[in-house]
Amino acid sequence: MKSSRIPGFYKKTVEERRELLNETIGLTEDDLAVLSSRQALPIETADKMIENVVGTFPLPLGLGLNFLINGKEYIIPMAVEEPSVVASASHIAKLVRDAGGFTTEATERVMIGQIQVVGCADYDVAKQAVLEMKNELMEAANQAYPSIVQRGGGAKDLDVRILNDSPESNYGKMLVVHLYINTCDAMGANIINTMVESLAPTIEEITSGKVYLRILSNYADRCVARAKCVIPPELLVTGEYSGEAVRDGVVHAFEFADSDPYRAVTHNKGIMNGIDPVVIATGNDWRAVEAGAHAYASRYGSYRSMTKWSVDKEGNLVGELELPMSIGTVGGAIRVHPISQIAHKILAIESASELAQVIVAVGLAQNLGALKALVTDGIQKGHMALHSRSVAIAAGATGEMIDIIAEKLISEKEIRVGKAKELVEQYTK
Ligand code: NDP
Repeated sequence: MKSSRIPGFYKKTVEERRELLNETIGLTEDDLAVLSSRQALPIETADKMIENVVGTFPLPLGLGLNFLINGKEYIIPMAVEEPSVVASASHIAKLVRDAGGFTTEATERVMIGQIQVVGCADYDVAKQAVLEMKNELMEAANQAYPSIVQRGGGAKDLDVRILNDSPESNYGKMLVVHLYINTCDAMGANIINTMVESLAPTIEEITSGKVYLRILSNYADRCVARAKCVIPPELLVTGEYSGEAVRDGVVHAFEFADSDPYRAVTHNKGIMNGIDPVVIATGNDWRAVEAGAHAYASRYGSYRSMTKWSVDKEGNLVGELELPMSIGTVGGAIRVHPISQIAHKILAIESASELAQVIVAVGLAQNLGALKALVTDGIQKGHMALHSRSVAIAAGATGEMIDIIAEKLISEKEIRVGKAKELVEQYTK
């Protein structure tokens, strides 16, 4: 890919942007037709994807630009309804790019399948019996899904826990078997569920208990991706705010979020503002990613900031984000949804691990975008200016009227639907 830095992209028409995208990554005529289509997801396809279909629900697809991650250029497709998310991610990506770009890494892609066993006569004996059969159980799981083993994945480990062991517990004792599975480039829900379901009869035999649940855990804490950026203060100068003031403000904002769940929830929502649009655009299951991310933010016993911001000894601002990333580049809706296929082409990623790393880099950028605005002008100035067009549309503006009304709302510092309706009435008189 050529550079992901495309100056003035935001000022172009949609048509010109598609041409620039095509020049940068090279799309087929079919891809361009899908992007321009009013029904990019054909109703016949939608009808096969879920039940009781009556239509489709389109979202805007924007491009996060300027991303440099591990020295590689990325244009990031983002499907999102909220104004300013894409602009903010691109703004921070440009800033981080000037500081050398993001660095990322990921663990092996090991997901977890759970098997719940109740009614054991002796839970310690049952646990020991399962552990003694560990190798045979892993082998049986692999036989239930041999193709993933051929791809280099499959069951990698197994362990067992006893829950509600204490006499004070309000709930019944149970045994939980964890099967750890490398799902290669798939999110792996079907692989994992097939494997754990196949083990259930043997587990019942070994434990003399009754198996109830057999399903993956979305708390994918062995399938984690990390992103980092190091930014010299001079790149953080914003209006009359010095780089050091912005840097210190960001660290204070992080400390607030890391100490207070009321703030952490909003702080982390801002991170998911970057993550979800990429997860959605690439056809992945954003509920799975959301659930895992928030659980991971609570891993030390209270709900805390997903990111960490600090100052290194050279005075640079250092940002880090580590999250479970149960996403894939194959499976589910990824190869079914025509836009998702184009999104993968735009990203030009080679593996699920690479996609996971790109996603956390976007989350880190999005967090800095929000914090930088919050510790300087406040979020409303930039956000509301971008929101003004949605307000104009909500008030009934169409065509060229949208930008005219939006600009008036900004100049009169009244970005409200009521005000926009008055302006629309005046304009159409
Ligand atoms: P699929 O079963 O659709 O796809 C995975 C399959 O793709 C693999 O089994 C493999 O099959 C094939 N494949 C092709 N190339 C590769 C590769 N390089 N690496 C790995 N597999 C490859 O999808 P998933 O199992 O990933 O399941 C995801 C879906 O499950 C999502 O739609 C999600 O919403 C849904 N889901 C989520 C749940 C949750 O999160 N709790 C629960 C249940 C479902 P083969 O080897 O046979 O070719």
